[in-house]
Amino acid sequence: MDILRIEPQGFCRGVEMAIDKSLNLKLNKDVYCLGALIHNSIMVERLKEKGILTISKKGATRLELLDLVPNNSTVIISAHGASPAVFEKAREKGLNIVDATCAFVYRTHNEIKKYLSLGYDIYYIGAKGHAEAEGACGISDKIHLISSIDDIDSYEFKDNSFVINQTTMSLFDIKDFHERIKAKNPNVLISNTICMATTKRQEAVINARPCDLFIVVGDKMSSNTGKLYKLASNKSKAIMVESLDELLSYDFSGINTINITSGASTPKDVVDRIIDYLNTK
Ligand code: SF4
Repeated sequence: MDILRIEPQGFCRGVEMAIDKSLNLKLNKDVYCLGALIHNSIMVERLKEKGILTISKKGATRLELLDLVPNNSTVIISAHGASPAVFEKAREKGLNIVDATCAFVYRTHNEIKKYLSLGYDIYYIGAKGHAEAEGACGISDKIHLISSIDDIDSYEFKDNSFVINQTTMSLFDIKDFHERIKAKNPNVLISNTICMATTKRQEAVINARPCDLFIVVGDKMSSNTGKLYKLASNKSKAIMVESLDELLSYDFSGINTINITSGASTPKDVVDRIIDYLNTK
């Protein structure tokens, strides 16, 4: 079988920084992460073994999750960032805050704040309920979330409109959003804030060789992994798996060429194990 690892792989810088910051804490008592530190359940389990516990509850906002963190403990803000209100409430609770927000997410926040101060209407393209979108939109109640392309129709987009987006959007999808907004008003100011790690991984998948099967490794919760899967599916037959376990019963008959990619929060050793297994086929 001919297996090609589509580079880049391994953690992006934001994920690496978040993990390093967490693991470097002096753990004399439990540390709590507000939602998953990164969207990968294997890593969340590995962090738990080191005393870094994830506080999560389906449908709960970061502000609501804070109620579940014991007073005076340490809380980590995940790579996806959080709104100013979350930081404020954490301080009020006397928590020791470890901020692992990725620099690319902060860049988005800073642009939003800049254009808010200049009096612009802000439109944020991102996934409803995703931690990053919640953090960015929580900067001000004047920010409008665009979570589907049809949402664009419900807004007027005056000349003083500023459009920005989640860092892990699809390179293709974002173009469609921008074109539709520009069709409503070409004077709208647009900033594309898809991060470097997301861009490079998506471009690598778009430009990958033809294959019989594209394997995308990562957690179903991971936004950037989901986008890789969508792009890979446009090219060839594709499957998304979190670990080797999900491939053990897969029927590889008739498959001679495999491309393998992974999300920015997928540990490299998980992909290595899959490749070792495929090499035995
Ligand atoms: S995917 Fe991009 S925004 Fe998210 S942590 Fe990695 S570098 Fe930062």
